[in-house]
Amino acid sequence: MNLVGCSVVENREIAPGNFLLTLKVPRGFARPEPGQFVHLRVSPESEPLLRRPYSLEGFVERGKIRAVRIYYSVVGRGSRVLASQPKGQELDLIGPLGVGFTPRPRRTSVLVAGGRGVAPLLFFARKLREKKRPFLFLFGARSSRELYGVREIRGGRIHLATDDGSVGYHGSVLDLLKRQWESGEHTPLTAEIFTCGPHGLLHEVAEFAAGRGIRCEASLEGPMACAVGACRGCPVPLLPGAGGNGGRYPAMCIEGPVMDATIVDWERLP
Ligand SMILES: Cc1cc2nc3c(=O)[nH]c(=O)nc-3n(C[C@H](O)[C@H](O)[C@H](O)COP(=O)(O)OP(=O)(O)OC[C@H]3O[C@@H](n4cnc5c(N)ncnc54)[C@H](O)[C@@H]3O)c2cc1C
Repeated sequence: MNLVGCSVVENREIAPGNFLLTLKVPRGFARPEPGQFVHLRVSPESEPLLRRPYSLEGFVERGKIRAVRIYYSVVGRGSRVLASQPKGQELDLIGPLGVGFTPRPRRTSVLVAGGRGVAPLLFFARKLREKKRPFLFLFGARSSRELYGVREIRGGRIHLATDDGSVGYHGSVLDLLKRQWESGEHTPLTAEIFTCGPHGLLHEVAEFAAGRGIRCEASLEGPMACAVGACRGCPVPLLPGAGGNGGRYPAMCIEGPVMDATIVDWERLP
């Protein structure tokens, strides 16, 4: 377990209720892989007691300075307290934790992001660009105001979708994925899907992929207490069969949060 102190460099509201948090971390913080997360103490006070898990939107290394970035929504007590933490505030976190995205050689990565789920995929896209690997970035949100990070994406093709039609395709990112796939440009042998967003979207993307034999990884989110596999509080139900894994309940914090989306039993996921 890697518990490190960190301090707030910036905690800025980017869109109503959505914040970008930059935390300076010590050199002892291992270089994270896209898809990994940290378990963050959101306040120096003893309340709330439990840490909150957040995927990394980015990792910055300049000389001896290391920082992680988190893109988060205010949804409840913990995130509300986090949003009030000022520049310079000392906190701590455990991480990097979990399993990140694992692209296969010589395949195009098709990234499918829904809303705030774009965060780990932005980190992933930067990594793919660094490695000069081809990718397609499909990003859907309710409106243009929620298309965070689009201008930063370089090195791959981008297609946008909004529910209100304010930018890009008027409809869901799942429709975009179907249209892209039906164009015949990709096959299960040449491309694979990586997705993050609301579980409803992940479920639909997983069904789409499973039905066509496409490899598909999803970054899951769910209630988590210890985040290091001790409390067994974040079990992920797998489908019967599941490539020999049926009936298992892997811990999201240890065997995820990025998992093979086609073997997750989305109906039973809490
Ligand atoms: C591996 C992992 C990575 C994550 N990465 C991110 C991230 O990058 N950015 C981010 O904003 N969140 C992320 N989350 C979710 C984040 O941990 C929760 O939003 C956070 O714990 C909520 O804490 P809270 O005290 O504010 O809300 P709580 O008081 O715990 O919950 C308040 C209410 O909000 C609901 N709720 C909880 N989480 C969410 C959610 N994500 N969206 C909508 N409603 C929710 C709850 O069901 C409850 O009704 C991640 C979770 C996991 C497990």
